[in-house]
Amino acid sequence: MARTIQPDCRQCRREGCKLFLKGERCTSKKCAMERRPVIPGQHGNSKRRVAFSEYGTQLREKQKVKRMYGVLEKQFRTYFEEADKKAGVTGENMLSLLERRLDNVVYRMGIASSRKNARQIVNHGHITVNGRRVNIPSYRVKAGDIIAIKENKQDNEAFKPLRGSKVVMPKWVEFDTNSFSGKVVALPVREDIDADIKEQLIVELYSR
Ligand code: SF4
Repeated sequence: MARTIQPDCRQCRREGCKLFLKGERCTSKKCAMERRPVIPGQHGNSKRRVAFSEYGTQLREKQKVKRMYGVLEKQFRTYFEEADKKAGVTGENMLSLLERRLDNVVYRMGIASSRKNARQIVNHGHITVNGRRVNIPSYRVKAGDIIAIKENKQDNEAFKPLRGSKVVMPKWVEFDTNSFSGKVVALPVREDIDADIKEQLIVELYSR
């Protein structure tokens, strides 16, 4: 019987890169991109990847980043439009806005193993911002915000492995795995965000 590829992993294979959608699985040998990094579907076995047109390349990059952050098209475009109105480089502004989503921050702090998992944690009301419960994954954090796991949720089974563990996180956030509380130290800048994103392609796509 053919081995079933998980839907999230198919997205990585479609984009031809690891989108880190499945938590620990993504850094293990089980990762589908480690086992068989080809495009899914009937032509997936072909050694030759079709050369994309300029438009196709821009479209793929947009799809990749959208899938990475788990954002739908309409909302993704709204991020672009807001970023375009701000001073500075549009692509960098857009990535910074995406990074400031509460679900992403929970993921970056190591509270969740993937952004999808982080979204569930936020949806279930396990997270507080400055002492108040926030259950909106797209909530935008500010520098200085205190992010914590709600006190009466801290003994939840899901958070046990986190207690006292060492988490590697970007320098714009900090999180104490003993007190289960952390802080947005500064707003994220381009160098804090995944280097292999080519945000300029997305700006070109939306500027057509
Ligand atoms: Fe699946 Fe994660 Fe690997 Fe992507 S990075 S193929 S989601 S295991």
